[in-house]
Formats: sequence, structure tokens, C-alpha cells
Amino acid sequence: MTQATKDASRSAIDKKALLAKYIAERDKRLRADGNAQYLQIKDQLAHYLEDPYTPRVEREPVTDHVTFAFIGGGFAGLVTGARLVEAGITDIRIIEKGGDFGGTWYWNRYPGAQCDTASMIYMPLLEETGHMPSEKYAHAPEILEQCQRIGRKYDLYKNALFHTEVSELNWDEKNSRWLIKTNRGDAFTARFLGMGTGPLHVPKLPGIPGIESFKGHSFHTSRWDYDYTGGDPKGGKLSKLANKRVAIIGTGATSVQCVPHLARACSTLYVVQRTPSSVDVRANKPIDPEWFESIATPGWQKRWLENFTANQAGNMAEEDWVMDGWTDLSRRIRSRIMDLPADKRTPHDMLAAYEDSDFEKMEEIRARVDSIVKDEATAQNLKAWYRQLCKRPCFHDAYLQAFNEPGTHLVDTDGKGVEKITERGFVVGGVEYDVDCIIYASGFEVGTEFTRRAGFDLVGRDGLKLSQAWADGMKTKHGIHVHGFPNAFIVQPTQGANLISNVPHNLTEAGATIAAIIKHAVAHDYKEVEVTKEAQDAWVELLLTNAGMMIGSPDCTPGYYNNEGQTPSPAAKLNVGYPAGAMAYFKYIDEWRNSGDFEGLAFS
Ligand code: NDP
Repeated sequence: MTQATKDASRSAIDKKALLAKYIAERDKRLRADGNAQYLQIKDQLAHYLEDPYTPRVEREPVTDHVTFAFIGGGFAGLVTGARLVEAGITDIRIIEKGGDFGGTWYWNRYPGAQCDTASMIYMPLLEETGHMPSEKYAHAPEILEQCQRIGRKYDLYKNALFHTEVSELNWDEKNSRWLIKTNRGDAFTARFLGMGTGPLHVPKLPGIPGIESFKGHSFHTSRWDYDYTGGDPKGGKLSKLANKRVAIIGTGATSVQCVPHLARACSTLYVVQRTPSSVDVRANKPIDPEWFESIATPGWQKRWLENFTANQAGNMAEEDWVMDGWTDLSRRIRSRIMDLPADKRTPHDMLAAYEDSDFEKMEEIRARVDSIVKDEATAQNLKAWYRQLCKRPCFHDAYLQAFNEPGTHLVDTDGKGVEKITERGFVVGGVEYDVDCIIYASGFEVGTEFTRRAGFDLVGRDGLKLSQAWADGMKTKHGIHVHGFPNAFIVQPTQGANLISNVPHNLTEAGATIAAIIKHAVAHDYKEVEVTKEAQDAWVELLLTNAGMMIGSPDCTPGYYNNEGQTPSPAAKLNVGYPAGAMAYFKYIDEWRNSGDFEGLAFS
């Protein structure tokens, strides 16, 4: 595109009118109850949490001692376990509420489930396990198999406790170890403790009046009932839905992926929408083994991770190898900024350039709806009126097309949500829709208390609870260490790199860091390792110099990215990453752990 054409297409956008539309659409959706609008799944709703995939096996409680215990058998536990084994620590026990490893990928087996970040960088330990991803964006069964492969390769199955939830965690000051109790009667000790329970693991239901009264079949997408629908997670046709009228409530990233499968299978499908997702091009393709062999030379995955982060996190990488939706977003913003004359690259003008790039992108996404969806009114209702990072961006090449199927109907609630659930179906705009089955694609708890989601609190030195230590917000060093909680490590992105477009990269780095620390402690026979208060305070102070996140914002349409449109609590300002960015963090943490000084930690 020449500069003149670029300028012409850019000036055609009426920014003022668009912003007014964005605000009007947001206002329609703002509600006073914020996160409280959702139902916690318990009591008479508890059946929505049952594991449909693996039968629970009775076992004797364990009462022994391990060197390292980890809560959560998803990517965090697996990569930390793997790095520990590589460091020579093999006495590891992973405790997991699901019936196998996999975390998110254990539970989310809905038809069409797929990774939105390119598999080459999303799937952890590909090089170590010798696995070549089959597609640019792998489907869920392959990702689950990768989790199982890691578990087998590093022998993490032998000591794991599945279908087990931790109920109590207490620091035993006298013996310098953690006491761990579970809902299966286990009571064992661990010299070191890791936690990686993930951000999106507790399903939630919409607080729609009458939800318990529905007499048909219903389930949450993270507990897909293939016995009822037929088919399988690998894409087998949902043949038992052929004569069924089905409603799917919610149109977030999950719904976008499973709607095409439902549309093909059901006699009638109602897609019930409160806010449309932005759905950009997917362009998935198989990975060519010859090409893979040519690039998969030693150290390849690290190089790819670095290339992605450099392109994604705003630095200037030479070439974009990954070329996915996330790097596209960054490339556009960068190119806008580079188009500014050097003397105009002020924060104000750069922000304006970012905003322009966003308007342009969203106009493209809305135009894509018109180009695919045949029914005009449906197309109009499927358009997302907000900035792209207000909500989780989606990428799919069959979702919008599904609305051209004769049996598929968009039920748009004009931002209001479902009015009520009845014995026979659901009500929107005063109209009752009779259905045989309701599928809740209503997402996962995000803004609730950490202890409510985890199911436990951590009781550290002198009886200090983690919920007390974090009463005014999360306080750590590197997002891993908390003062007052010796020998405990947290594996997650916040207060570290905070690279949300590729969460596994954060986890793999944290795993490597923890393994280096524990190896050091074991080699020198230290009983305890703990971050000093000064080091933690200094890290928190550094974090507070962060300009803030680009996702969400109070003027966005509500969702979990912006605390459902409610004023964020003062504690939210601590939910940030290293101020210099993800790329700089990974470089910093690599040097920190390899220096052998572990500055800020006290070993005794
Ligand atoms: P979300 O929380 O993103 O979506 C929930 C949906 O339910 C929204 O569309 C929401 O509408 C709707 N909803 C809530 N209450 C009501 C109501 N009362 N009436 C009607 N609709 C309602 O959950 P998802 O499971 O889709 O996704 C969660 C996250 O999981 C994603 O953001 C993503 O991070 C991750 N994910 C990743 C995938 C990948 O990498 N491939 C795939 C799937 C999920 P509203 O928007 O108005 O609140």
C-alpha cells in the first residue's frame, strides 16, 4: 500500500462516530452486580462440575513425605516437574483435581477445541519430547496428548494423585516442610511446594433466573457430555443431536469454536448472544514434516519463543516466523508508529497511532462479517463494537459461516442476556424458545477470591495466611516467591513476564527458575529458602512503575478483561508484569537464575 492509499483508507473511518457507538454498546451492558451476576457452581448445581471423562478410582490415603509437591497437573505442574527432573530432583508429587494431566486441556474437550496461539510456541517442551505439532493451531486432543507425553517422559505419573483436591496447606516451622491435606484423606509432607492452579479452571454459570428449573438436558462446555451428543473430541459428528433443538448460551472463545460443530449436527441450534466476539481469520494449516525437520535443529523452540515474544511484545524482531493473530496485531501497531515522523513519536501520538490501528482492524473484522453472513440482520448483530483488546480476540474460519446453516439461529439479546430459564427452554425478548438441551458456554470464574477458586488458603510462617498477605493485592518477587511462605513457589504469569498471548512461555521459564533454586538448596543442604521482605518490596515498587496493561479498560464493554466493567479494586494495579516488557523479563530472569546468586532470596 502506498502512503497515499494508506492515508485515504485511514481517513475514511469516522472515529468520533465509532467511539460514540462503542460507548453506547458498553452502556447497554454495564450492570451493577459485576462478577456477582454469575453463579458459583455448588449445592444443587454441583453436578455441572462432575468429571464426564474419567471414572474416579478409590484408593488409600497417602501419608508419606516427598521432596517436591505441586498443586495442579496442567502445563504449570508439568513443565516445573520436567525442569526439576532435569535438575536431578525426581521425588515429585503432582496433585490434580482432574482424572489425568492436562489442566485446561483435560477439561476442555468440547468439539472444535483448539489452541489460538501457534502450536510451535504454545505447546510446551516440544523439543524435549520430540513431538512435531500436526497443525499450525493444534486441536485439543493433541495438546492433551502432549501433556500426557510430558508426564510419561519425566515419570510424573508414578507419584501423581488424580481426582484429588488440596484442602489444607500448613507450613511446619519445626521441621521446615509443608503439611498437605486433601479431600481424599491424604495427609503428607513436602520439603518444597509449587502451585499452578491456572486462571480459568473454575467453570461458572450465568445467574439467569430459573436456571435450576430446566427439565431438559444441560451441561457446561468444560464438561462436554458426549454420551448425550454423540461424537468425540477429535471431531466425530455429534450424531445424537440430529433430532435435537439445542441452545448454546454465550459467544466467547469457547462458543466460537464449538458452534460450527453444533450447527452441522443439530436440527435446530440457537446461539444465544449477549456480546458478539470479534472473529478474525484463522488460516490453520498442517505442518509440513520436511519443513519442520529443516528448522527443528537444536534449540529451535527457544528461538521460536524468543521470536514470538520479540514480535509480540513490541520490540523489533527482524522477521516474524510465527505469523499468528497476535503478532499480526503487534505488527500493525508497530507499522503505524513507524509511519510517524521521528519528532512525532511522543507517548500521546503513539497512543493515537495505536488507537487508529485498532479502529482499522475492527472495521476489517466487521466487514468480514458482512462478507460471510448472508442474512443481513444476523450479520449486523454479529458485529463487535469495541476495541479489539476489550474482549478476548477470536480467530475462526467456520464460526460466522455456521450462521448460513438453515437450522442455526442467532438469538441476540441486545446486550441484556437471557431473561429466564424455564422448564422447557429459555426466554429472550419475552419469547420462550423450547429446547431439548442447553449448553452453557459461560466461561470461568476470574474476579473471585483466589481462595474460593483454589479451594484452599496457604498458611505460612507464624500462621500468616496467603489471603492475609495479599489482602491489598498480590505481592511477590518475580510472581513466584512470597515473603512469609518459605519453600513455596507460584507458577503463573502475573508480576513476571505477564505475556498473556502465550501463557506457557511464562510457565516454562518459571519452572526453570524454580528448578535452579531447588537444585541449589538441595546441593547445599539448605532447609529453607524464602524471599526477603526488602527484595519483595523492591520488586513490587518496580512493578508499580508499569504503565499498565493494554487489555480491557473501563470504557470497554464489560467482561473478565475489565472486571465486568466495575471500577477495579486498588489491588488490581498489582496485576501487572515487568515494566520493561516480556522480552526484557525473560532475559533478566535467565541471568538471575544462572548467576547462582539468587539475589533477594535467603537460604538457611
Ligand atoms: P467467556 O467468559 O469468554 O464467555 C462467556 C460467554 O457467556 C460470553 O459470551 C458472555 O457474554 C456469555 N454470557 C454470560 N452471561 C450471560 C447471560 N446471562 N446471558 C447470555 N450470555 C451470557 O468464556 P469462554 O469459555 O468462551 O472463554 C474463556 C476464556 O478461555 C477465553 O477468553 C480464553 O482466554 C480461553 N479460551 C481459549 C481458547 C483457545 O486458546 N483456543 C478457546 C476457548 C477459551 P458477555 O460477553 O456479554 O459477557
